[in-house]
Amino acid sequence: AKIEVLNGPHYFDYYLLDKLLERVNIEKKLPRALTEGEFELHYQPKIDAATRALTGLEALIRWNDPELGRISPASFIPIAEDTGFIVQLGEWVLWEACRTNKKWQDAGYPKLPISVNVSAVQFRHPHFVHMVKHVLEQTGLDPKYLELELTESLINNPMMIKEKLDSLKEKGISLSLDDFGTGYSSIYYLKTLPLQVLKIDRTFIQETPSSQRDSSLLRSIIELGKSLGMTVLAEGVETEEQFKFLQEIGCDQIQGFYYSRPLDEQAAEQLLRTATCK
Ligand code: C2E
Ligand code: CA
Ligand code: CA
Ligand code: CA
Repeated sequence: AKIEVLNGPHYFDYYLLDKLLERVNIEKKLPRALTEGEFELHYQPKIDAATRALTGLEALIRWNDPELGRISPASFIPIAEDTGFIVQLGEWVLWEACRTNKKWQDAGYPKLPISVNVSAVQFRHPHFVHMVKHVLEQTGLDPKYLELELTESLINNPMMIKEKLDSLKEKGISLSLDDFGTGYSSIYYLKTLPLQVLKIDRTFIQETPSSQRDSSLLRSIIELGKSLGMTVLAEGVETEEQFKFLQEIGCDQIQGFYYSRPLDEQAAEQLLRTATCK
């Protein structure tokens, strides 16, 4: 009889298997990484577009795994969101950011807000608002020096989140809408929700000013944000040309490699020591 050698799949997708194994590996490693102290925060400056004065710092998580090396938050944050571990990890980020900002303030550096990224999964947790207030109380950081960055994915159920946003706002915390333009927020929600800062996603900045389309979109977004009384920030600004253009069209603040990459704690402190601050 003839033997069927090619029974089943003709090829095997090693790439997908690899991805899957990597994912399972990361998923397993995350909780231990937290207790082993493998996470740290880096800080990326935000500056005033007109004066170049420092207006704040955004905390960005970093993970250095002893075996896998540096792993990007773009790959491990989504995994942490899927498993729910983001709730714990996000709480650690908040503690660390508030503690560090308070420490800088106590050391006499200029007082600036620190921005913390909050994932939708974390925000939806019933104790989120309570947890934030608790961290502020325990660290002694004045709430006006904390800013939470939320993405548009949260806004798909605006009425569910309005109450939470209002109570954070009432406490004096400022709220910003991250990655603006990549999701589906309507003008109505922008108007109704207590958001102070509009962060225009990097994809709109990348092709400007060479792309006419993106440049005119940018103008409109800036105008929209301003007419809603929001501060408008452009992220991912990499070149002098982009910076000049944004300045010209009235963008309030910028963030990106043009001014500075995210800095480790020591370098951020050094910047606070020397930079002109708002
Ligand atoms: P994001 O909040 O939009 O942060 C901006 C990302 O763009 C950061 O990447 C930053 O390093 C990078 N970036 C800044 N300026 C430039 C530029 O001029 N050019 C380019 N090409 N990139 C620039 P990072 O640190 O790898 O973080 C990626 C994403 O991971 C963040 O995007 C955020 O969604 C998430 N993330 C980072 N830290 C945290 C955290 O503590 N909690 C949560 N929930 N998410 C976080
Ligand atoms: Ca952000
Ligand atoms: Ca962003
Ligand atoms: Ca992003």
